[in-house]
Amino acid sequence: MNLILLGPPGAGKGTQAKRLQAAYGIAQISTGDMLRAEVASGSAIGREAKAIMESGALVPDAMITAMLAARIEAPDCARGFILDGFPRTLAQAEALDRMLAEKGRRLDHVIELRVDDAALVERISGRFTCAACGEGYHDSFKRPKVEGVCDVCGGTAFVRRADDRAETVAARLEAYHRQTAPLLPYYRAQGRLVSVDGMAAMDEVTRQIEAALAR
Ligand code: ADP
Ligand code: ADP
Ligand code: ZN
Repeated sequence: MNLILLGPPGAGKGTQAKRLQAAYGIAQISTGDMLRAEVASGSAIGREAKAIMESGALVPDAMITAMLAARIEAPDCARGFILDGFPRTLAQAEALDRMLAEKGRRLDHVIELRVDDAALVERISGRFTCAACGEGYHDSFKRPKVEGVCDVCGGTAFVRRADDRAETVAARLEAYHRQTAPLLPYYRAQGRLVSVDGMAAMDEVTRQIEAALAR
């Protein structure tokens, strides 16, 4: 099963993609996480992407599409994948369609997580993750069960993203509305789009996605 989770920054794509990965045994592919790993390693891609990401703009299509093409060849994608944060432009969506057609694979569902801009700002500004395992948390909506200790791995170091500052969030939302929202009619026309209420609590969103996948 090959899925796309589509939605604005902070909508809950990463949260839901991790749950689907565990439930269906398919790979979560977060292009944001891949880029942050490139930045951390100081690679050529990372050096080019760093300032762009910090400004809240999108990195060039050619860079991200090449990265994604290599990633879906990995063995953990054999049973399928969940794309979290890709595609983000029409050019990326068209490149993905070509890539899949060449491999004789197809997209099964595109799930849109619908969340109001005001709620997104609150979600993004309270977001933090475990430095060791990447589990996601939120200051108000999902605190670790034991304060300061990761529920999943017991780690005690947490990180906040440089681009989750309030100044950058507006630019990221603008990029979403201008460059990524046009993908909604694109996938609706392909008959693949399912929209779920991303404003609901995390478990309810998961339930709605699983119901959509079972149809
Ligand atoms: P969020 O989880 O808030 O939606 P991501 O972690 O997916 O954000 O992305 C962080 C940043 O990485 C984006 O603001 C953008 O600069 C870059 N990025 C990630 N995926 C893509 C993509 N598919 N195309 C262009 N830029 C991307
Ligand atoms: P995205 O990958 O789309 O940028 P995340 O999955 O990182 O979004 O979620 C953004 C923040 O909001 C995280 O701190 C996460 O814990 C929290 N969050 C995710 N889904 C929900 C939800 N349904 N209700 C409340 N908070 C949520
Ligand atoms: Zn952890």
